[in-house]
Amino acid sequence: MPKFNLSWMYMIIAMALFGFWLANESGSGVQKNISYNEFQGYVSKGFVEKVTIYKDDATIEAAIKPQHVKDVFQQDSTKVGKSPLVTTRALTLEGLEQFLNKEQTEGRFSGKVEPVERNNYLTMILWNILPFALLIGLWIFFMRRMGSGGAGGGGGVFSVGKSKAQLFEKGSSIKITFKDVAGLEEAKQEVEEIVEFLKSPQKYTDLGGKIPKGALLVGPPGTGKTLLAKAVAGEANVPFFSLAGSDFVEMFVGVGASRVRDLFKQAKEKAPCIVFIDEIDAVGRARGKNPSMGGNDERENTLNQLLTEMDGFGSNSGVIILAATNRVDVLDKALLRAGRFDRQIHVDLPDLNERKEVFGVHLRPIKIDDTVDVDLLARQTPGFSGADIANVCNEAALIAARHGKKFVGKQDFLDAVDRIIGGLEKKSKITTEAERRSIALHEAGHASLSWLLEHANPLIKVTIVPRGRALGAAWYLPEERQITTKDQMLDEMCAILGGRAAEELFIGKISTGAMNDLERATKQAFGMVAYLGMSEKLPNLCYYNNDEYSFNKPYSEKTAELIDEEVKRMINDQYNRAKDILSTHKKEHNELAQLLIEKEVIFAEDVEKIFGKRPWASRSEEIMANEKKNNPVSEPEVSTNN
Ligand code: ADP
Repeated sequence: MPKFNLSWMYMIIAMALFGFWLANESGSGVQKNISYNEFQGYVSKGFVEKVTIYKDDATIEAAIKPQHVKDVFQQDSTKVGKSPLVTTRALTLEGLEQFLNKEQTEGRFSGKVEPVERNNYLTMILWNILPFALLIGLWIFFMRRMGSGGAGGGGGVFSVGKSKAQLFEKGSSIKITFKDVAGLEEAKQEVEEIVEFLKSPQKYTDLGGKIPKGALLVGPPGTGKTLLAKAVAGEANVPFFSLAGSDFVEMFVGVGASRVRDLFKQAKEKAPCIVFIDEIDAVGRARGKNPSMGGNDERENTLNQLLTEMDGFGSNSGVIILAATNRVDVLDKALLRAGRFDRQIHVDLPDLNERKEVFGVHLRPIKIDDTVDVDLLARQTPGFSGADIANVCNEAALIAARHGKKFVGKQDFLDAVDRIIGGLEKKSKITTEAERRSIALHEAGHASLSWLLEHANPLIKVTIVPRGRALGAAWYLPEERQITTKDQMLDEMCAILGGRAAEELFIGKISTGAMNDLERATKQAFGMVAYLGMSEKLPNLCYYNNDEYSFNKPYSEKTAELIDEEVKRMINDQYNRAKDILSTHKKEHNELAQLLIEKEVIFAEDVEKIFGKRPWASRSEEIMANEKKNNPVSEPEVSTNN
């Protein structure tokens, strides 16, 4: 775009020049050709102010005194311009000089005489032609720029309709292969098959099958969708076009559709090939849902064009579309139907074993010592995406480098995990004794409850060292469940509310420190009541509405009141439960808080010393125990702290 703006600048400059020239032209006044005799007459009468003699051809230019303009031109001086001239030609230069000398000595002519060596026609011509030449030059330059700059060239008005896809030819610079993508076995298999379709389509068409047109990679951010597509590009021996959904979007109407057309035209020329559209939701959003005054037709046009190109008359053979999004719920249904994106490939957050593999990939370039335990790291990073894990590895290397180490050790990795979850440790943040006590009691409340409740997430460590924006933090090991029961959710909510409950019980004053907890608990309670049908008064009802632009609640005012009531009741119940549990275990809780104030950081073992062993094995322990039974050779370390 800046280039385009620049062209406008050129235009403005050209116009200004033109205008300047015009103004100059009209201001230069009138010239009148007269005979030599007439000229002599004007000089004798004293009308002439200045005489310019061009010596090479004896032409004369004489400027007339303003008061005599009327006598010479028979016109008002306003009509003839600022400096009206008369021009003529002398018979001989000598004669002219003699005449002027004579007139001067006799006092009739008092003006200036200016002899000029050569009549400067060249400047005159240049002066007259230059502005035109400049204009034409600019115009040609401008047209060239508009016409040039094909795909990816950018700039220029005429190239906006060209697709911006980046083309990677066979054997190009992409070095990513399926080996660099850890885990995601099923997804990998699916895309590998797509590569296979392109390499030997006959194998499939011989049996009457049709080659799929597209596959949609769906999953949370950072789970490796783009990586997978890059690996396809690296492995498939076919041309690969890569672009983002937003590349279709431009401020001109009709450009998106034109870009789609151009993309498919290019792709068809290169078929068989793969087109990868990242973040397809930028263009693929459901049509007709946007209430913004219909101003967004452009996106719909683009989408319509995409739909027809993908499966309309004259469908494309040998072009497979891969697309990635983390918002499949907002995509247009027509885009998702079979025949367009035939396959949806779900790319989920990695589970324990997949995380191990992802660590394996990202630890490869890092110099680690033998304290690093991949099993432990994988267990410490539940809920992390592939991108987060890549970040942990990098951060660990940076931390080790900061401490001047030769190798990256286990503690560096654990610090990196803590940092990524909680933000930077701020030991320098000033806290008073009372504040520290309050934070300790609060965190101890969480810690005690999570230890005492069966389904709460088991604790890893608690700290009262401020981190990021939090004043204290507790690390848990969330169980990676596929389904969660109501009891489990209630226990979690109870543990979340434990901080505020401890403050109320043991300090007698509640504080602002619990806002984050309250927000989480309230959201969870609302979800349970309104979406999961888990409350007593509104059982088995789900009011979930994924319509982006709907401003109406899908329930009546009365139900809204009921929901509020149920949410309130649920939170109150759990809060009271938290208070009950904490008051029965007051001694242990206070001991824990005291320990926190002394040590700043405490681990699961310290909590175990105070409360005794947890009677329930956690799910991950169960899974691990099973693994051990089935696979006794590779014994994972069971400690959950450093
Ligand atoms: P998205 O799903 O948002 O497109 P990316 O594919 O861009 O995520 O992933 C970002 C980065 O995270 C990758 O460059 C890679 O380093 C890392 N990553 C994500 N998933 C994996 C994985 N399964 N294996 C290895 N690295 C991964």
